Amino acid sequence: MGANRPKQFLPLGASTVLQQAIIPFNQLPAVDEIVIVTGEEEIALARQLCADMEKVKDVVAGGAERQDSVYAGLMRATKGLEQTVLEDSLVLIHDGARPYISAQVIMDVLCAAAETGAAVPTVPCKDTVRQRIDGQNHSRTLDRQHLFQVQTPQGFQTGLLLHAMKKAMAEGFTATDDASVVEFAGYPVTMTAGNYANRKLTTKEDLPMEWRTGSGFDVHRLVEGRRLILCGEEISYEKGLLGHSDADVAVHALMDAMLGAADLGDIGRHFPDTDPAYAGISSMKLLAAVRDKLQERGWRLSNADVTIICQRPKLSAHMPIMVQNLAACLDISPDQINVKATTTEKLGFTGRGEGIAAEAVCLLCRNG
Ligand code: MG
Repeated sequence: MGANRPKQFLPLGASTVLQQAIIPFNQLPAVDEIVIVTGEEEIALARQLCADMEKVKDVVAGGAERQDSVYAGLMRATKGLEQTVLEDSLVLIHDGARPYISAQVIMDVLCAAAETGAAVPTVPCKDTVRQRIDGQNHSRTLDRQHLFQVQTPQGFQTGLLLHAMKKAMAEGFTATDDASVVEFAGYPVTMTAGNYANRKLTTKEDLPMEWRTGSGFDVHRLVEGRRLILCGEEISYEKGLLGHSDADVAVHALMDAMLGAADLGDIGRHFPDTDPAYAGISSMKLLAAVRDKLQERGWRLSNADVTIICQRPKLSAHMPIMVQNLAACLDISPDQINVKATTTEKLGFTGRGEGIAAEAVCLLCRNG
């Protein structure tokens, strides 16, 4: 996942992946108690996140392997239960990285486990799967009709699962899911209908796309003796824009839109006009720095729209090169950026040619 904390604790919607994965169980009348198994270092955080969930009985530390963790949870869940109660009870094992679980999928597993002893939710494989032949350089296609992807929660009669886990431990068998352990012990496993939405968050691409918009606005005064630079392009005109940098008003508006969307304040904060380092600097260099700041935080520019408000000079002939400049600097395709110009019908300071204004909006996206 490349995140700075275990994926179960990443934010999702208004809460976290872990909370979203537990809430449906906490709300289900058929569920009596929930035990959370997590890393030793995350126990306190998990307790805090689940403080309001009345069915969460305990948070315990997991083990080295997935199987050890499941066993630790199972021991805690069954602690103090009379043998007959234990034999009659059902246990569901769910992955904390599956936050899109529905009550329907849970209930189908639970009912099938009550009837047959062991059940797992599955979905038909959408992709054709190839199997590499061990030790050889070739592979074969598996018949997709017979292939299903296994999800969680996996449901079991508690006594059956305990017996299967003890047998697996005694014989040194390890597996990537609990149904395999039950199968190893010789019990049949029923498949129930899973749901494609019930996916496991494994890589960054599995996280939902996050979108942010931002807007920017800027004005610079037109004076004699300065060059006129707009979107990195020098435009021949009798006046130029006054400012600490090259006063590229359009790029300033665009940078403010991008920083705003990323919750990074504004260009004044990042490139103060009191800093001599920015005296006369090309605003395209600052735009590249903004691009990098956003990239560091995982943001990509989906699109931007820049409007230059200017009575004179006429800018239409310069538009294609302006777009090209911005796209090249931002490392995006020209169709992701639009630059347009408008006059104010000779009204106001822009209409009188005293200055040029620009505004910009942009849309950023990232996974998670
Ligand atoms: Mg400015």
